[in-house]
Amino acid sequence: MAVLAPQRGGARSPDTSYHRGVSVRELVVLGTSSAVPTRHRNHNGYLLRWDGEGFLFDPGEGTQRQMLHAGVSAHDITWICVTHFHGDHCLGVPGVVQRIARDGVNHEVRAAYPASGETYWGRLRNASAFADTDVITPRPLSGEVVRWPSGPVTLTARPLSHPVQSYGYRVDEPGGRRMLPGELARRGVRGPMIGELQRHGSLTMPDGSTVTLEECSVPKPGQSAAFVMDTRVCDGAFALADGVDLLVIESTFLSDESALAAQYGHLTAAQAGRIAADCGVRRLVLTHFSERYTTADEPRFVDEVRTFYAGEVVTARDLMRVPVPKRADYQAQRAAK
Ligand SMILES: [Zn+2]
Ligand SMILES: [Zn+2]
Repeated sequence: MAVLAPQRGGARSPDTSYHRGVSVRELVVLGTSSAVPTRHRNHNGYLLRWDGEGFLFDPGEGTQRQMLHAGVSAHDITWICVTHFHGDHCLGVPGVVQRIARDGVNHEVRAAYPASGETYWGRLRNASAFADTDVITPRPLSGEVVRWPSGPVTLTARPLSHPVQSYGYRVDEPGGRRMLPGELARRGVRGPMIGELQRHGSLTMPDGSTVTLEECSVPKPGQSAAFVMDTRVCDGAFALADGVDLLVIESTFLSDESALAAQYGHLTAAQAGRIAADCGVRRLVLTHFSERYTTADEPRFVDEVRTFYAGEVVTARDLMRVPVPKRADYQAQRAAK
């Protein structure tokens, strides 16, 4: 699997040219610890880079510096998405906001968060004295499902189940069609005729016959990714994860602490594996680990997931990059089975 190793010392200057407008779809892991940071894990923080969009999920304390280590610029961020207002998911907001202002980011940065936490958002947004920016626009969340178009994708938010109101997120690319060169050639469709067929859905040939788009192409589902943080097992988690290519999900505990998981509204690795299996997820990223575990415990998390889920599993570490798996990879895997 093409999971890239953590980058060390990958600092670079903040410029706007990096990756904007380029087709890059990957998760940049900035932090992986729940509750408190550890020597090896920062508080949460995740940037999902999707073509020109950059969804910054749950910037915990220290996110600004982790961005430097990961080679992420404030200019890369187009959304700040906060699942809920426990500190490990939002204490990095002041630093990130002030960095966006300081670096002169001039595109809109939308900020999604539970509307019930408006007071916390207001404090974090205005936590200290700085030369402010007007590019950050709030998008408080309420209700059962909220959708926003965002560049090439749709961002969807749904409620989760946690002691404080929590929302998970999902990014979807619209489906399209993949042209079949053999079928096009067989019907004599070539050059600019192909574009015309794609635009109009059918084409009248010089001999008067009609060629349709359906005859020369197959449906191509869009790619998708979901981000499911602090929650119990709930309908929202399944709806968000349904059929996604990449699922980033909390697995705070192992099953021997399932009583604690239930008490504090968290998932065990086994529960995360069950959600991934039921939803047909293609690549699973576990994160938000309790500080009681070390990296030596990671195989235990994978073992629990394996009770239910046979797909690709990544136990996230800080500064790791995880690509959104390509459709072509998936088709090759299926063909090899
Ligand atoms: Zn948390
Ligand atoms: Zn929480």
